[in-house]
Amino acid sequence: MDPSASAEAIERVSQEIVRMGGQPHLSKGKFRTVIGAVGDEIALDQSHLTSLDGVEKVVPIMKPYKLASREFHEDDTVVEVGGGSVPKVLIGGKHAVCIAGPCTIENRPMLDIISRHVRDGGATILRGGAFKPRTSPYSFQGHGEEALKWHREAGDSLGMPICSEVMDTRQVELVERYTDMFQIGARNMQNFDLLREVGKTRKPVLLKRGLAATVKDWLLSAEYVLSQGNRGVVLCERGIKTFEDSIRYSLDITSIPVARQLTHLPIIVDPSHAAGKRDYVPALALAGLAAGAHGIIVEVHHRPAEAQCDGPQALLPETFKELMGQLRLIATVTKKEFAEIGELANS
Ligand code: PEP
Ligand code: MN
Repeated sequence: MDPSASAEAIERVSQEIVRMGGQPHLSKGKFRTVIGAVGDEIALDQSHLTSLDGVEKVVPIMKPYKLASREFHEDDTVVEVGGGSVPKVLIGGKHAVCIAGPCTIENRPMLDIISRHVRDGGATILRGGAFKPRTSPYSFQGHGEEALKWHREAGDSLGMPICSEVMDTRQVELVERYTDMFQIGARNMQNFDLLREVGKTRKPVLLKRGLAATVKDWLLSAEYVLSQGNRGVVLCERGIKTFEDSIRYSLDITSIPVARQLTHLPIIVDPSHAAGKRDYVPALALAGLAAGAHGIIVEVHHRPAEAQCDGPQALLPETFKELMGQLRLIATVTKKEFAEIGELANS
């Protein structure tokens, strides 16, 4: 729209898009409003749209992911996580985030200890799985709702928003009730029904890259969430399958600058699941941040040998704290900043 377009003109264009069978998605920038017209290209009459009051130009977005593309929204999106019972944490633009905690929530005392450690170390969002996607059906599958309750209480008592995985459309309502951010796991990146379902909520979504997904596949999955009106998508590079077998997955550092060019959505790295081994985690976290990521999600455990899941890749609390110090240094170079828990405000 023209920078001087009135609210009525914007509304009129939105109505016309609906009339033609499309969906209008508004993106308000500093200077102008962009209206994304999503729908069948043939049904959306471009010359008619061009003729409407306040329309500066009509630009077809060639990328298959429309709302996720930089063409639709030029500035970096800043996603808000939390608010309400816990402070709000920002991810994207100049805001870097550290999400940390155990792989899975094993029991309450363990969660209380680890959450205090990660908070002291500088994390601002607490992770933990209540529903776990395990390769074997005989492995520990998570404590479900009970774990979500412990997780919520730990987050509230420490003033940290929480992030937990949802694996199935049938769990969305339950997980939404407790968590501040949904995690969509790598194995579910193309569970399109699940993506649509979390897209209907207004809770932010951490979207892990699939084990064998291209950046384009990943952005199309983000598009599923955005298409339902949920704008809070944070991408997470967590490593892909390659022929290399000395590590669990190959962290695709290149995907960070690539995704940052193609999309306005924030992107963080998960060095834990890529490495599979704690010795490699700090280097990957630092590399991810240096490549332009907006932060990390990392697994931490004070007694990794006793962990029910992913113990070998969990950082010890001391190492985590040291890593946070190094990440803050890298962040200054890439013009980003990690918030300190004390400076966050409730709203
Ligand atoms: C996890 O975060 O514990 C997890 C299972 O991650 P991913 O889906 O990336 O394997
Ligand atoms: Mn894990």
